[in-house]
Amino acid sequence: MSDLRQRFYIENCPIRGEVVHLEQALHTILAQRDYAEAIKVLLGEMLTATALLASTLKIQGRISLQIQAEGSFKWAMAECNHLGEIRALADYEADPRFDHAQDSSTVLATLVSPVLFINIEPEKGERYQGIVPLDKATLAGCLMQYYDLSAQIPTKIVLASTTQCAGGLLIQLLPRNSEEEQQLIDDDLWPRINLLTETLKADELIELDAQEILYRLYNEEDVRLPEVEQLKFACTCSKARCADALIQIGVNAVKETLDIQNPIQMDCQFCNSHYQFSAEEALGLFGQHLS
Ligand SMILES: [Zn+2]
Repeated sequence: MSDLRQRFYIENCPIRGEVVHLEQALHTILAQRDYAEAIKVLLGEMLTATALLASTLKIQGRISLQIQAEGSFKWAMAECNHLGEIRALADYEADPRFDHAQDSSTVLATLVSPVLFINIEPEKGERYQGIVPLDKATLAGCLMQYYDLSAQIPTKIVLASTTQCAGGLLIQLLPRNSEEEQQLIDDDLWPRINLLTETLKADELIELDAQEILYRLYNEEDVRLPEVEQLKFACTCSKARCADALIQIGVNAVKETLDIQNPIQMDCQFCNSHYQFSAEEALGLFGQHLS
């Protein structure tokens, strides 16, 4: 049951949802740095959230969540693409407040001038960036507020993480036709499904598999499950991307770097891959040769 995303539909009802469970991929990502416990828990929730949100997009590309703040916490980001590949990274200064955590609220409570960005980057087409106020206690609360204010799609998100496993569930009310709308009003369906979802405890979300979670919550509904999707850690770094970064900083900056470091060493912060550019390669990017 490691690293899965299970979509579900409730029959005859305009509600869809996703359940995400992370274990092995979370281990891999959290072992890439020596993170404090509260940072691990925050990254677990952020990774789960990106995997849930990625499923709501109909694009080839990636979605990332990035939290930035002043003070000892600097930033954290998590990303998921349409292939279910996830990665995450955080930067912060040691702080005893990060030593223990129940959930994302531990870190969020310490943030000074925090901002949460939602970035959607299709492989083709325009990028989108949403800015979310971080004024709710938990990451899930902040994301639901974003959907309420910006996307106006009724959305319920629950997230939970330990330093070992993470789990999350998202339900959305889809656009309705008038008959369905009347049915929803008659049945009080959305509030009822929301209340059921709130009965889920953090440890259930982390420990149980998707089918068990859905059975516990919605066993009175007719829940349909399409095929489960795999999630995995993967990094999108490459020598070509490093070359793009060198081109971005410009030939003069590259020459200055070569004066200090030749060949130029570039390390991927996510996966610790090393890339190297000789002076000839680096200058060749600008059509220049060694003189
Ligand atoms: Zn990498």
